[in-house]
Amino acid sequence: MSITLVPIGKVDPAEIRMLKDPLEGAFSRAVVIGEEIPLPAAARNAARNQYDAETALEFLSLSVETAGDGRVLGVTNADLYFPGMNFVFGMAGRRCALISLHRLRPPFYSLPEDAAVFRHRAVVEAVHELGHTFGLAHCKDPWCVMRFSNTIAETDRKGPAFCTVCRPRVFAGEGGQRRPAG
Ligand SMILES: [Zn+2]
Ligand SMILES: [Zn+2]
Repeated sequence: MSITLVPIGKVDPAEIRMLKDPLEGAFSRAVVIGEEIPLPAAARNAARNQYDAETALEFLSLSVETAGDGRVLGVTNADLYFPGMNFVFGMAGRRCALISLHRLRPPFYSLPEDAAVFRHRAVVEAVHELGHTFGLAHCKDPWCVMRFSNTIAETDRKGPAFCTVCRPRVFAGEGGQRRPAG
């Protein structure tokens, strides 16, 4: 079983590659980089200048063939939202998840570029959303990657690692029986 990273719309290949080693470490599975797929026009909300995360996730799961019970992480620069929320950093379904890099870059918050901060955030969000596809729910441990984050400060507070309760569940929860989660 492997994890496939899929760029959705234009994404710098280096920003996909930087996720490979940390994800292999977090999930102990091979991570491969798939072909870019377009941003789905049906997910675009012109008035909000954002993409509906659930529609984009559905498009991703229909677009990518996975062998066996492989997992897929879509990575996009588009800003994602979920009805009732201003934005989401990502979303997860049963085997597919996606993250947006849009709000992870320091310049979004009027701060200078910082490659290390950006990479940390992207890895945290990638591990978090893929964690959901392995059946993990949100965790109360403040340092655990599965803690819910609704602001960039909350993302920055947690590390990219699973706590001692969540980590074994990554390997127990391969069935992935969850509805979409943020
Ligand atoms: Zn945890
Ligand atoms: Zn979550």
